[in-house]
Amino acid sequence: MSNRVIAIDGPAGSGKSSVARALAAGLGWSFLDTGAMYRAVTVEALDRGVDVHDQVAMGELAKEAQMTTLPRVRVNGRDVEDEIRSERVNIAVSVVAANALVRAQMVGRQREFAAAQPLGTVVEGRDITTVVFPNATIKIFLTASLEERARRRDDEGEASVSRRDVADSTREASPLRQADDALVLDTTGRNVDDVVEEIIQCLKLKTLS
Ligand code: C5P
Repeated sequence: MSNRVIAIDGPAGSGKSSVARALAAGLGWSFLDTGAMYRAVTVEALDRGVDVHDQVAMGELAKEAQMTTLPRVRVNGRDVEDEIRSERVNIAVSVVAANALVRAQMVGRQREFAAAQPLGTVVEGRDITTVVFPNATIKIFLTASLEERARRRDDEGEASVSRRDVADSTREASPLRQADDALVLDTTGRNVDDVVEEIIQCLKLKTLS
């Protein structure tokens, strides 16, 4: 059992998933994509016809939902890996993620997951450095230009990426923001391995000191 956590936050398309995945693979740690969890709850609500604006119903749905993110995203026994990236989910997920009742459920599961991993966990999302793991071993905030972020999410489009960023940064419940003690890395024009290497160097310095 280990509580070692590398926490990574940043807006859509900043490189969080690719960097976190590669970092976890390189270190032999576990990986947790928390955006996939909010997306899975959203798919379940849309498919069941639950109004995503109904805070209490959504909180209940999140509480009851059985979910795994690896090797594929599954909710209540269904594989939703492909569906979670659909346009209808891109549109509705920010509403679901702004619900404090849903967040409380997800945050509890994220902490339980990390506490159960043998070596450590690389966790990425929007509130990981600020709310979920404020005492993480190392905190990273990734950024990139809107143009490049939209290019990386070319199936989503710049307008949708930008709309999600505004919604995620201005909501009341755990908005996306830079933690004071986060290492801020601009990934514009940089490749994944390069960013991963910088984080590993930073981790080495941190764990030696
Ligand atoms: O990372 P990804 O783009 O898949 O996240 C989808 C959405 O989930 C975000 O736009 C945000 O609304 C929400 N999210 C969140 N908190 C997290 C991870 C994702 O609010 N920790």
